Amino acid sequence: MSKTKDRIRESNLRYKQSLGQNFLYDEALLEELTAAAGVTKEEDVLEIGPGCGSLTKHLCDAANSVLAVELDERLIPLLNAFLDEKKNLTVVQGDVMSLNLQEITAGLKKPFAVVANIPYYITTPLIKLLLTGGLQVSRLALMVQKEVADKILASPGEESWGPLSILCQFLCEPRLAVDVPAEMFTPPPKVDSAFVVLPLREEPAVAVKNREMFFKVANAAFALRRKTMVNNLCASFRMNREDALRVVAEVGLDEKVRGEKLTLEELARLADAIE
Ligand code: SAM
Repeated sequence: MSKTKDRIRESNLRYKQSLGQNFLYDEALLEELTAAAGVTKEEDVLEIGPGCGSLTKHLCDAANSVLAVELDERLIPLLNAFLDEKKNLTVVQGDVMSLNLQEITAGLKKPFAVVANIPYYITTPLIKLLLTGGLQVSRLALMVQKEVADKILASPGEESWGPLSILCQFLCEPRLAVDVPAEMFTPPPKVDSAFVVLPLREEPAVAVKNREMFFKVANAAFALRRKTMVNNLCASFRMNREDALRVVAEVGLDEKVRGEKLTLEELARLADAIE
């Protein structure tokens, strides 16, 4: 058993399911994740949910410095005691979704990497926040549920293709790094996981006149599943049918095309036409 797990046992800490506490103790896996994240001594890392510090320890060894944000107050003394000798670590207690991330990351070298075994209950809002919250991030390297990894990596028309695929692929070049079975976690979650790496693109995958409009059109495409894009435009933009048909024809799409089948390029053409 790993030393970290021993310490958790000694402290009589009970895992809080409500905080997504599924910890990793396997040193070989933690090493593999750190390597897959591509962390180097030249860059700083933001870790979300360090838990008892098992991944944090590897990140501190690999990175210039690590800023770790943990919500569970009970874990702060454990973290500080365990990682006392890591002089390049700063621990902040708080909820990553409500802290001012721009402020707390102000001291990090830019751009910084985000590496984390995240709490799954905030996966989608957290990815959105990290990608669109005005932070200077070089890449995200995150443990997510396998089903979420499928969404991040999906191709247009596939069952998993949706707003999360579009957001991630528009701004990043996502790749699957490591498949992680449920039994690697303590306690094991109900589902398998995957570690995905999302390096940010210098420019979005497709050029658009207005990013906000692009995301609005992308969300509209999935507002009513199995419906045509024309129907979705009518519902989401309060367009009359004639106008929706005209816009769809103008960008060279079939009037019967379903929103959920559209590629990034097609969504961009539609967004530009509406804009
Ligand atoms: N990094 C550790 C590991 O790999 O063993 C723990 C990962 S565990 C999946 C997620 C961690 O995120 C827990 O320590 C949990 O307390 C913390 N957490 C949950 N919600 C949070 C939030 N809103 N903000 C910051 N940390 C949070």
